[in-house]
Amino acid sequence: MQKIEHPENDGQYIGLTVNSGVAQPPTVNPYMQRRRRKPLPSAGELVEGILKGDVTMLSRAVTLVESLSPDHQKVAQEVIEKCLPYSGKSRRIGITGVPGAGKSTSIDVFGLHVLKAGGKLAVLAIDPSSERTKGSILGDKTRMEKLSIHPSAFIRPSPSAGSLGGVARKTRETIVLCETAGYDNIFVETVGVGQSETAVHSMVDFFLLIQLAGTGDELQGIKRGIMEMADGIVINKADGDNIDRARLAQAQFKSALRLFPPTASGWTPEVLTYSGYFELGIPEVWDMIDRYFEFVKANGYFERRRQEQARYWMYETIDEKLRAHFYNNPNVAEMLPALEQQVLDNRLSSFIAARDVLDFYFRNNSDDSNG
Ligand code: GDP
Repeated sequence: MQKIEHPENDGQYIGLTVNSGVAQPPTVNPYMQRRRRKPLPSAGELVEGILKGDVTMLSRAVTLVESLSPDHQKVAQEVIEKCLPYSGKSRRIGITGVPGAGKSTSIDVFGLHVLKAGGKLAVLAIDPSSERTKGSILGDKTRMEKLSIHPSAFIRPSPSAGSLGGVARKTRETIVLCETAGYDNIFVETVGVGQSETAVHSMVDFFLLIQLAGTGDELQGIKRGIMEMADGIVINKADGDNIDRARLAQAQFKSALRLFPPTASGWTPEVLTYSGYFELGIPEVWDMIDRYFEFVKANGYFERRRQEQARYWMYETIDEKLRAHFYNNPNVAEMLPALEQQVLDNRLSSFIAARDVLDFYFRNNSDDSNG
């Protein structure tokens, strides 16, 4: 039986007519479908653009650095290698604080303050949570209203894919690109929770911890490790009727810092109060940071710390690549769930499970290299 096109047109449905559809007209612009995405610029073209300070080329290179595609990574690594001789000349400043401490408000005014003296500023971020939420909460342009429209500022949200180590490595590589493009001040922002401060600390020259005056027990919530990393602690929101509490917190932080062993740089971390929102005390914060740079450049610590960081990143990268190579091995990926289940069922010890899969992996790889 032949199907009728519109069964509703059957005589039983009085009063209802369904018209036949019309054929799809041809595309108005016949060339439209043939339009392709812009071809990938070569490493040489990217480097040339970056050296000229071309923001589009810089952004495209950063996108390649962040990309997981092996083709993109290959170009990205070539670009970084070519940029390395031009890098290293910026002041790299890490900024951390718990959510709500006022990082974005502060970076907006700190950034404008720094740019008053000329030069260019890049604001990067390391936000490990963006891996989970698939969206970055840091480095979002709308959070830094004034900087985001400043022609000399480049704001880039956190790379979002991969482990914290991977995310941090990408940010470190982005620093190299930004420096090559002439950015002489680099801020690296992170949320003051968890491991990300250590990652930021390992790539900056100065580490600024933004704190808030609280209810008198503010020192309790702060991990000792983070305070030990800080080269400067600044207490934000020292405005209105919060000024006294901010001063009290300042005194408490100062006395807490006295209990810490001397820093490797020989610099005594300072504690200041300011208000990002009302723009009070901003020059004082930057005066401290300027003095720090003078101090560590004079005593050789600046160079030493950069060398230590370079070594750290060499081993971090080796670790990361090894781990990725292991977990990306399809046979390993196939073996792991069963081994894991045996461990969970108490049929196999964790160590034996690990040894078995590693033995298999090493055997496999040496066979690969021999064959
Ligand atoms: P972030 O989460 O650390 O980036 O913090 P934000 O910059 O978004 O600031 C969190 C809240 O604190 C916002 O409502 C700001 O308006 C407010 N805030 C930031 N700086 C100050 C300040 O100096 N004084 C006062 N009173 N409020 C501030």
